[in-house]
Order: sequence, then structure tokens, then C-alpha cells
Amino acid sequence: MNPTYPFSAVVGLADLKLALVLNAVSSRVGGVLVRGEKGTAKSTIVRALAAQLPQVAVVAGCRFHCDPGAPDPGCPDGPHEPDAAGAMRAASLVELPVGASEDRLVGSLDLERALTEGVKAFEPGLLAAAHRGVLYVDEVNLLHDHLVDLLLDAAALGVCYVERETVSIRHAARFLLVGTMNPEEGELRPQLLDRFGLTVEVRATREPDERAEVVRRRFAFDADPEGFAAHWAAEEAALAGRIARARAALGSVRLPDSRLRQITAVCAGFEVDGLRADLVTAHAAVAHAAWQGRDVVTREDVRVAARLALPHRRRRDPFDAPGLDERLLDELLDQTEPAAPEDPEHPEGPEDPDDSGGPGSSPGRPEGPGDSGGSGAGTGAGDGAPEGAPEGTPSAPEGSGSATGPDDRTQDVAAVGAPFRVPVLKVAGVGAGVAGRRSSGRGRQGRTIGARVPTGAGPAAIDLPATLLAAAPYQLPRGRRGPGLILKREDLREPIREGREGNLVLFVVDASGSMGARRRMTAVKTAVLSLLLDAYQRRDKVGLVVFRGADATVALPPTSSVEAGAARLRTLPTGGRTPLAEGLATAADVLRVERLRDPDRRPLLVVVTDGRATSGGDVTRAAAALAGVTSVVVDCESGPVRLGMAHALALRLGARVLPLESLGDLVRDRRKAS
Ligand SMILES: [Zn+2]
Repeated sequence: MNPTYPFSAVVGLADLKLALVLNAVSSRVGGVLVRGEKGTAKSTIVRALAAQLPQVAVVAGCRFHCDPGAPDPGCPDGPHEPDAAGAMRAASLVELPVGASEDRLVGSLDLERALTEGVKAFEPGLLAAAHRGVLYVDEVNLLHDHLVDLLLDAAALGVCYVERETVSIRHAARFLLVGTMNPEEGELRPQLLDRFGLTVEVRATREPDERAEVVRRRFAFDADPEGFAAHWAAEEAALAGRIARARAALGSVRLPDSRLRQITAVCAGFEVDGLRADLVTAHAAVAHAAWQGRDVVTREDVRVAARLALPHRRRRDPFDAPGLDERLLDELLDQTEPAAPEDPEHPEGPEDPDDSGGPGSSPGRPEGPGDSGGSGAGTGAGDGAPEGAPEGTPSAPEGSGSATGPDDRTQDVAAVGAPFRVPVLKVAGVGAGVAGRRSSGRGRQGRTIGARVPTGAGPAAIDLPATLLAAAPYQLPRGRRGPGLILKREDLREPIREGREGNLVLFVVDASGSMGARRRMTAVKTAVLSLLLDAYQRRDKVGLVVFRGADATVALPPTSSVEAGAARLRTLPTGGRTPLAEGLATAADVLRVERLRDPDRRPLLVVVTDGRATSGGDVTRAAAALAGVTSVVVDCESGPVRLGMAHALALRLGARVLPLESLGDLVRDRRKAS
């Protein structure tokens, strides 16, 4: 097997390296969620870290990686003898593919064999394989909610439970969880975000020299992996040693009460919900102190920990910018700084050039990690508040209010108001799309509504009562004389389940002058934003077609990123004539392409207009091209005299009509409800 790319050789990405190292030092930090664009070597660096983890002793032959010193008493391969033979092996790195089934994740009991052969066979899943190692989930935001729940439960409890019809199995599953996601492709729900210990934003460096160094090293590695690894062996060994020392020292790091109060004050200051943030910050601060060779947690440890532990826990809209307000962080730290230094022998502050950066090479010096050097005086470590920051100048945290937004610069860009709850719009009938929260759908999740002879190669799941019923009539012909049931393969039945599917919600928005004054367009934008937010919560794909002036444009091609949709909406200009037919024709084009790309995902068309076509082609013909698509027309007509054009359009589309005002009448306080 080729050597993995050395951790020390990774250029930049200081926060990510530091977050991974803190998790390697302390298992209580709770994993890392890596957010960022594609092509930032996220998986390379995770693999590199796994190679840095100390080897583990395992009971020979145990598929659940029991520690010979302390085997899992419930191990399905156990019980192990106290003197069971052990073997050393590298900490595992397991990748969970996005399309994995529940069985693949938690393991499976072979019910088919159990029923037909009477054998109890449990096939361990990926959680068992990852025990005492690293579990890596690329694109965790695309994983089905149900799997994310299972995954995070196991990560939190350190135990994997497998429940099947009549059998339950449990085994230990403790691992360092690393998830990555590209926020452009859709967000994780806040309650799932909260369950990752730390988050890091990564983006490839924009610094040409650094980029060149990345490429140079990649070339060198690809040309001669062995030689490259050998070149970095000393740095890697030093890093592994430092991790091991920090692990050993972890238990003796002191977290003074004054520092703990500082942590809780910072968490409260950022308005995080619950206490998980405080716990994770405390664990991360202790781990960072151990990593820096300190035996007492300092302000710098708290600062680093808060910067990594809090960004995803702030109470926020899904459309807020990521990251943490570092100025506020420093203010909070200043306000809660204990009066007397706790450890006069070790004055606080950077003792180490990479104190606030990561392990390994700092961006400025691509030539090596130089961890213990301590020469380059505090590069970038003091970018926080100046030492003697004047006290009692509380500045308002975060930009308050946006009554006069930057939108005022452009005449014809209406602002967007606060989103509100909208009624659930559903696609008619039962689909077979990906699991979600909108329309009825058949899939692997949901409640059982019947049973059938397996349609695939084998049963995806077994419906036990239906299987027994299928076997019952044949017991005598099959020669049954005593009690035991005689089952054959052809008796097996699988459940038919019905749940909810996600859809493609395509918005077709009239941004023409006929939509009236700016205030009206604000109401329209707010309604569309509310519908977008609803789509986000229901795991839909969304797309946005806008028509105004001479033609229609696809402002947002179908995507799972609702943020992108919200951003397009904010800057959407209005005015001009109303080419309604072009809007509908463009929508039909988008749906045709999407049907090829994602055939099982059923569309829901939401046309937001007053229905008044003032230019362009034949609306009747354009509407005919959308026959069979479940549609809703949001009627934006206002004023004392109404033409009812939106109703006419709805008739042509076979659509339901919702007056714009009816959307807004609903609960305005989304936060209160959630
Ligand atoms: Zn075992």
C-alpha cells in the first residue's frame, strides 16, 4: 500500500489541522465538521491524521476491535478470554459513503439465514469497523437524516445499537467523527450541526506562493510517495510523539474555576442554546493546553477552543454568514479575564509560534512544521484585542437592524422582509423520490403499509408477519410433523413503506413593473424567501426562474442550496414588461432537464405573479407544456379593482391559487415556533 500524504506536509489549513489534532488528543472534543468548497484536500488531511494516531491493541480475530486489556463485555464476538491473544494494528480510517444503507452503517442481522437456516449471523457495519479509529463522512449534509441520527447517536454514546424485528445487538463504537460538507449543496439542520464538537471553514488559499507550494508538494508526492514520506518522516514522528505526549498529559491539565467561568460567559455571550457548547469548549481548551505543553488552561486555550466550538452553535438563520465574530469574542474574553494571573511562572500569551495557528507548517513558512522552535515571535497570535483595550466601551454585538440596507443604492431592488411560516404545498399522488418532508413517497423509510414478494435481488428488509403467513399454508405439504416452522426462500416478504419524499420546488417569479411598487415587491420577495426556507426545512431541491423585461432567466438552477436562492433573491432587480409565456417556457425547460438528471424527484411549480402578461408569446401554449406538473399560483394582484388574471393562469395550469396575503397571514414568529 502506498504511504499516505504526510500530515506535516499539508500547506496552510491551520484551523483544520488544529481541530483534528485537538480531537486526536482528546476523544471528548466530539469530532469535526469541515465546511468548505470542493478541492481543498479535506480527505487527504483526514487520512493523514489517521496515520498519525497511535496504534491500537486488538483481540485477535475480534471483528469489533476489542481491547485485550478491556474487552467490550457485550461484544458479539465475545466473550473474550482474559488472556486472549492481542495484536497491534493501525487505528482504522473508515469512510461512510453518502449512499450507504442503514445496514451498512450499523451492521445487519441476516434474517434470511436466521429464518431459513436457523443461523444467527451478524454482519458488522461501518460503525464497528471505525471503533477506536476515525469515521470519515464526506458530504455529510447529503446523508439521509435517519442515518445522520444513527451516526451521531453512536458518536455521542460510544455504542452502536442494532434493533431488528426480534433481535437486538449492541457493541462499542467510539471513533473520531469527521464530516465534510459544501454549504453550497445544502445545509445540515441546526440540531445536527450542534452535535459536531468543532467546525472549521476551509477554503483554498488565494496566495499564489502558497498555491504553488501545494502543487509542488503534490507533484513530489505523486512522483515518489516513498521518498516524499521519507523526507517528512522526522516531522511526522515528532508530531506523533507530541500527540502521544499531549494525550498522556491530558488528565493532569487543570481548568481553574475562573477559566471555566470565562468559558460559560463566552458561550452565554454568543447566545448558544443548551450546555453542549460549554462542555465542548472546555474539553477543547483542555486539549489545546495539553497540546501546547501547559498544565493550566490559559486565555489563549479558551480563545482557540471558542473559535472552533461556537460558530455553528450561535442562534442563527440558515442564511447568516458562517464564522464567529472575533471582535466580540475578544471583548467577552476581556470582560471576564481573571484579575490575578493563575500561573506566574508561565505568563500567558503565545509561547509558540503556532499558538493560534495549527500544528505543522504555518502558512508563511512552507518548509516544515518547526513546532518546538519558538523563534518567530508570535506570528499572527496577537491579532485579537490589544492588551490594554479600554474597558467599559461596550459596542453593540453584531450589526443590529437593517432598516436601511445596502439595497438602497440600487433604485429597483426591493428589500426582503423577515420570513414567515407558509402552508405546506404538496405534490399530488405518491412518488418514489429521495426521502424528505414534503409529499407522500414510497421508500426505505416511513411506516409499513403492506408487504410484497421482494422485487430486487433479495429482500431489502423482511416483513416477519407476512413471511410467516406466506409459509403457513405449506407446512403439511413440506412435511412438517412437529413444532418448528419450515420456511423457504420464496416465503420471504418485504415491507412496503410509505413516508415523505423531497421534491424539486421550482419558483417562477414575476419581477416585472406590473408587480407594482417597491413595497409590493418586498412582500413578494418575502413570500418567496419564506417558501424557500420551508423548502430548506423539507429537504427539497429549489430552483428559481425570473421573468421581466424582454425575457426569462434561470436565476438559480436546481440546487439543494437554499442559501444560494436567498442570495439571488436579495439582489433581484425588478421592473419592465411581463413576458409571462417566456417564464413558463423556461420553467418547462428546466423541468425537462431535471427529469433526465433526477427522474424520481417530482417537481412542484410555484408561479408568483399577478398573471398580467404584457409582452411575449402565447401563455396558453406555454402553460400546456407544463401539463401534469403540480402547480400553485401565488396571486400577487392587489388594489380595489382586480382583473383575476392569476386565476385565469391557474385554470390553464390546473393550479391551486393562493393569494399573496394569505401566505403572510400565518404565524410571523418563526423563531418562537422552532
Ligand atoms: Zn470483541
